[in-house]
Amino acid sequence: MWSSLHSEDRLILGMFKTALALEAPWKLTHVEYDALDEAWTLYIDFERGTEFPCPHCGTASKVYDTEKKLWRHLDFWNWKTYIHARVPRTNCKNCNKVTLVPVQWARLQSHFTLLFDAWAMRLMAEMPVNAAARELREHDTRMWRIFHYYVDQAMTELDLTQVTRVAVDETSSRRGHRYITLFVDVDTKIVLFATEAKGKDTLARFKQHLLEKGVEATQIQEICCDMSVAFIRGIEEQFPTAEMTFDKFHVMKMVNEAVDDVRKAEQKEAPQLKRTRYLWLKNENNLTAAQKKEFQTLKDSHLKTGRAYRLKLAMQEVWTTPHIFADVYLREWMNWATRSQLQPMVDLAKTVKRHEEGILRWFHSRMTNGLLEGINGLVQASKRRARGYRNVDNLIAMVYMVANKMRMPSLVARRS
Ligand SMILES: [Zn+2]
Repeated sequence: MWSSLHSEDRLILGMFKTALALEAPWKLTHVEYDALDEAWTLYIDFERGTEFPCPHCGTASKVYDTEKKLWRHLDFWNWKTYIHARVPRTNCKNCNKVTLVPVQWARLQSHFTLLFDAWAMRLMAEMPVNAAARELREHDTRMWRIFHYYVDQAMTELDLTQVTRVAVDETSSRRGHRYITLFVDVDTKIVLFATEAKGKDTLARFKQHLLEKGVEATQIQEICCDMSVAFIRGIEEQFPTAEMTFDKFHVMKMVNEAVDDVRKAEQKEAPQLKRTRYLWLKNENNLTAAQKKEFQTLKDSHLKTGRAYRLKLAMQEVWTTPHIFADVYLREWMNWATRSQLQPMVDLAKTVKRHEEGILRWFHSRMTNGLLEGINGLVQASKRRARGYRNVDNLIAMVYMVANKMRMPSLVARRS
């Protein structure tokens, strides 16, 4: 079923030539098409006697031998299209080395042309990778390989010399207890690093990543995290000179949990508290008129939950207190909570006491993990985009692309 186009088919050959836009010494010699496989193969070759610059030193060198190579290119008229060429190896007198000459249309060791890469990347930016693979009639592991190449390149090009303030948090990577931990530059909102699992070791991996990019741990001056022991230990060990800020949303989450613990204990003797969890959790302004009325009655009933709720409101005020009064205010709050005779609040006061410095650090750093909420939403979108992503490295690469809104600048630059 093989047929060849030769110089008599000037029109078609001319169209391929125009589309390929080859530069000397490369030229299209002939085209074959295989009707059975519905594929074109474009044969290209270089002029006899051409000397190529040595890839190491640039010295013009004679061709030593050639290697036959095949690349998948953009489809022509919906048929798969391959480029076939003998790629020369030069024998440089200067370097005394035989080296494969890079070609202008493909990356070294790739089975695809740069234009195919660009097409694949564009599809993978718009649809799940396995859908893109189907569209391109390729196996998805080959698509992931292209994807990783360009994401790695863009991540390598990131300049980390200005990074001083980092927020860290974990997010679920799939159902069950699988996590990835994200490290985000608070000032640029760029995801600097993501790694599997959660806990202390992730800090060591982040530090290693920074060192590989020439950034010392001491460059990181401020880190925002929740009050989990694992993060705190990791930061103390790997970034001993960084100041820690405890995320205020995490502090408030613990306060809300304590309020709810008081309510759950009390509802045995005060059944009107049943199914009122959301009333105590929500901002009062966001309640409906009926909910407000119910809430008003509950608040005025001298319940323990009402007292816990007032402690919650007081804690919220910490972050609006003028800086110079903040430590006094927080200590007053701890005294009040300790004397409240509400066990969850007494326990919470102890936790706050242990983390006092990091909670108050907010008044210097103004850092929260609020931006990670938005990024977490993008991670969940990435999971859908990376559907059937097989391994966590694929998901992480997709997170980098989606969260950092990568436009593959190096790829665009190469095409032009
Ligand atoms: Zn050389």
